[in-house]
Amino acid sequence: MRHLSLGVAIAAAAGCATAVEAAASASHVVQPGETLSGIAAANGLPTESLAAWNGISSETLVISGSSITVPTAEEAGVSASTASTGAASGGSHVVVAGESLGSIAGANGVSVSELAAANGLSETGILPEAATLQIPAPSTTTATSTAPAGLGAITSPWGDLYLDPAAAEAWNAMRDQSLADYGQDLYPAGPLSAYRTSEQQGELYESFLNGVGDPANPPGYSSHEVGLSVDVATPEMRYVVDQIGAAYGWGKLEAPDEWWHVTYGG
Ligand SMILES: [Zn+2]
Repeated sequence: MRHLSLGVAIAAAAGCATAVEAAASASHVVQPGETLSGIAAANGLPTESLAAWNGISSETLVISGSSITVPTAEEAGVSASTASTGAASGGSHVVVAGESLGSIAGANGVSVSELAAANGLSETGILPEAATLQIPAPSTTTATSTAPAGLGAITSPWGDLYLDPAAAEAWNAMRDQSLADYGQDLYPAGPLSAYRTSEQQGELYESFLNGVGDPANPPGYSSHEVGLSVDVATPEMRYVVDQIGAAYGWGKLEAPDEWWHVTYGG
């Protein structure tokens, strides 16, 4: 924490100055010899938080002269206490920057109210980053992707999910290379994170209108409904798509505020 380079010291001082007026993230220009973990430590942040905030892997080698955004500890939720754990049968999930109860619920095929109740949270409360949420098992009434005619299948921890046939074929080839060259699996973050029916899109849009979900397009206006987008599960997956996706027609083509959302452009 104390062996700061000059650049970090200046950035940290600037961060303190702005924190007095209004907490806000600050841009930091990477100095020679700096690492992501070093910058994170100098700003009192977990490396994972800083990486997630910038939509990059925590393993990323930051390049001298490039610029990264350093959130305040408050923005990153570092001081927030970890949500208490409770008995649940659906596993757990560590919150990363940019996620909401609505996005996590949607990605796991559970309702916002089920997820909030399982964690003793308000449906409209602030979700602290790095908190561990218990994910309840999806209720039997929650729709999961059925096998729609004319779509191609991709592998996920929830069984096959679906995409436009060309998008699915390209995804599967990209996944093969990711596994071979990076040892990194690629899969959607949840049952609703690849192809969605218009009905499922409508449910996400309703959550957004009710203030409990991420921004979602109305039914008929999402690239998920035509099977051309995937919401990847981790920043590490997004990193690999950034590295090799272009050769397969996959990349960050839309929704710049959603690091997890990648799209097939053909
Ligand atoms: Zn998406």
